[in-house]
Amino acid sequence: MPIIMDRKLLLEHIGVEGIHTHDVYRKQGGYKAVEKALKSMSPDDIVEEVKKSGLRGRGGAGFPTGMKWSFIAKPEGVPRHFLCNADESEPGTFKDRYLMEKIPHLLIEGMILSSYALGCNQSYIYIRGEYMYILQILEKAIAEAYANGWLGKNIKGSGFDLELAVSTGAGAYICGEETALIESLEGNRGNPRIKPPFPAVKGLWGRPTVVNNVETIAAVVPIVNEGGDAYAQFGIGRSTGTKLISAAGNINNPGVYEINMGITVEEFIYSDTYCGGMKNGKKLKACVPGGSSVPILPHYLVCKTAAGEDRLMSYESLSDGGFATGSMLGSGGFIVYDEDQCIVRNTWNFTRFYHHESCGQCSPCREGTGWMVDLLTRIQKGNADFAEIDMLEELSFQIEGHTICALGDAAAWPVQGLIKNFRGEMEDRIDSYKAEHPEINQRKFVSYAPSSQH
Ligand code: SF4
Repeated sequence: MPIIMDRKLLLEHIGVEGIHTHDVYRKQGGYKAVEKALKSMSPDDIVEEVKKSGLRGRGGAGFPTGMKWSFIAKPEGVPRHFLCNADESEPGTFKDRYLMEKIPHLLIEGMILSSYALGCNQSYIYIRGEYMYILQILEKAIAEAYANGWLGKNIKGSGFDLELAVSTGAGAYICGEETALIESLEGNRGNPRIKPPFPAVKGLWGRPTVVNNVETIAAVVPIVNEGGDAYAQFGIGRSTGTKLISAAGNINNPGVYEINMGITVEEFIYSDTYCGGMKNGKKLKACVPGGSSVPILPHYLVCKTAAGEDRLMSYESLSDGGFATGSMLGSGGFIVYDEDQCIVRNTWNFTRFYHHESCGQCSPCREGTGWMVDLLTRIQKGNADFAEIDMLEELSFQIEGHTICALGDAAAWPVQGLIKNFRGEMEDRIDSYKAEHPEINQRKFVSYAPSSQH
């Protein structure tokens, strides 16, 4: 059973008047972790605590943060960089925005700790261009941090220097991919790079670079304050700590919640502490648990796994059974759909988004996402043939795993989830259209035989 710790680690002080300012943040214990680290911890000590904590990247991939940090190359005399990925653009995900808006000094404190741990003296926060009002909040908070001696030369007499600046994107979702982010920061078009080399070896301006998500960086503060072992007491199994979830859709209480990983999905949806149940007493139809790029779960797989066990809010439980019967925790963008929602139309909408955001470098993504939009447009209208559903599925398999970056996968997975779990709904639309348009039965469709090689 999960140990449910009834405490918040990141949003504990939200609600305290003026917590976005340096002085109030400081009064609530802010910057104690920096004081502790600079006085009594070596950079390697911090890396060790982060490893012990089991913290995994909160941007979507869930890669262990301590391990990612340990990959950074340390060639003699070459500067290293630490970057914060605040280019939060995944449909359904808005938790980083909340954290930066409400408690910006938590992110700045995490940036100082992470930069110190990695030996970086010039760090950047890359924020999506649409978050212009948060840019102003962050710039003000950074100015306060400089004025109070937390940034700049010889921070608090420790000998450690750190310059921190914010840079904005210009509205491209793909700049949330770490190598595209680096390209954009260098002033180039935000095209993802072919890897290897990975940023840990050759990143910003060819120098060793680590990129972490806003929430991941903020989590370093409680890890340093309380120790990696204490942090790992939160959560369940390899899903340690707390997680910010942005909840949206047909629920009573949409918003951002900090959960202890391991609570049940049922509690998250129906408890008044979190989503407060389905809006207007409607029935649950489906759920996207981790942002628009993960497979959708039908109602019977949302609260229970295929084995009949409680589904938990954790990396492992949400992906239980792989994509056959599971999904992903992803970015924590939790979207709930009631019985009145059309999942075909919803997936068509997501697919249009990915097609629009494709950078165009690789043809399976550039062309394939457009073809998926065309097929989904026909299917959602009903003006299609059943064989086109097979064609759509085959196309998604041809995109998945055949592209430079993960946008191709992100576009393919929701489509695969749609076909696997809502094929009946797709066929119903086609049947209804045929019933309303008897002339269509005269039309000849070219039959399509999908290959089995995927
Ligand atoms: Fe660009 Fe799409 Fe290829 Fe990623 S997968 S590099 S977004 S074309």
